[in-house]
Amino acid sequence: MPSLPDAAGHFGEYGGKFVPETLMSPLEELEDAYNQARRDDAFKKEFEEGLRRYVGRPTPLFPARRLSERCGATIYLKREDLCHTGAHKINNALGQALLARRMGKSRIIAETGAGQHGVATASVCALLGLECEVYMGTEDMRRQALNVYRMELFGARVTPVDSGSRTLKDAINEAMRDWVTNVETTHYLLGSVLGAHPYPAMVRDFQSVIGREARRQVLKAEGRLPHVLVACVGGGSNSIGLFHAFLNDEDVAMVGVEAGGKGMQLGQHAARFEGGSTGILHGTRSYLLHDDQGQVAATHSVSAGLDYPSIGPEHAYLHDLGRIDYTSVGDDRALQGFGELCRLEGILPALESAHAVAECLDPDSIVHKKALRRSGSRKPLIIINLSGRGDKDVETVRGFPKK
Ligand SMILES: *Cc1c(COP(=O)(O)O)cnc(C)c1O
Repeated sequence: MPSLPDAAGHFGEYGGKFVPETLMSPLEELEDAYNQARRDDAFKKEFEEGLRRYVGRPTPLFPARRLSERCGATIYLKREDLCHTGAHKINNALGQALLARRMGKSRIIAETGAGQHGVATASVCALLGLECEVYMGTEDMRRQALNVYRMELFGARVTPVDSGSRTLKDAINEAMRDWVTNVETTHYLLGSVLGAHPYPAMVRDFQSVIGREARRQVLKAEGRLPHVLVACVGGGSNSIGLFHAFLNDEDVAMVGVEAGGKGMQLGQHAARFEGGSTGILHGTRSYLLHDDQGQVAATHSVSAGLDYPSIGPEHAYLHDLGRIDYTSVGDDRALQGFGELCRLEGILPALESAHAVAECLDPDSIVHKKALRRSGSRKPLIIINLSGRGDKDVETVRGFPKK
């Protein structure tokens, strides 16, 4: 696999930098700073120490025995749910906050949908003594009131966004507006492998610790590489974080699971590959859900973290290349996956992660087809990225009939 993106931030025909003139120079400043930092041993050491002492890495690669029995395969869970603040998002938040401090920025802004990225950002800002302002749609604030309060406990200001659909994409618009105005003092800490170059590459690099650990851990535990990796895909950061270290391992298949929501009608899901086509949103070209007039479509998922109309540009590239397979799991199956993992392993997964679990519970799924083709006479070996813990989702799940 070639090392991507190219100097202009392109992954094949995807990615790039589609922003107003006023954002070009802050993006270049960020790119220069990041290119220096990632070659600097002192920065690397600072990041690695933070991951170990604050985030709690390495996270375990857990052999899920009862789930394995149920699925007829050997299944390991990469336990990102055990990260500080409850999901993988803190890996990236820590990396970018350290970079911001190095750049002499005293203020951090971020957007958040479900609130997980906001909480991770507020947490690392408290750690490093940085001012923190988080933009959040008023609809999301209502749905995720507890996370709003958590951010405030960490000293962040949560600014309501009352425009558009009052959700994540509107919060991103507002954060970009703030960044243009306050770029001297402010770093925009973006939460997934989205947005203009260098964000998709930088966020991937900060998250790729997941796959580097998992690769080492599975080799130690099993003496071989897995047949298939599985992860849920919102913007695409936990999945690319797991997949990246394995991209050159030709025998390792990868499956990304998008939100199938309530069905394949536009507006009812967030399956960008099944229901979308090429378009530009928030500074990058990728697959995008839009209507006939080119208006960005509404999306739906029971899990707020998978509910975004576009997908990281590197995923678009790897999809077209056929290196990664993508599929979707709907709300009902995700809720079943949630319940099954609770009962089988005593682990409460985030509803996002439950999409990946559900995909493995289906014996006819692409995961098992890929695994069988590769494993021959041996038992299939599968790693699921458990991107986060489900405490935040208990109220949502309680509102549905028992699965
Ligand atoms: C935000 C989130 C996701 C989706 O974001 P990605 O960038 O696709 O990883 C998935 N799982 C959890 C637990 C999240 O908080």
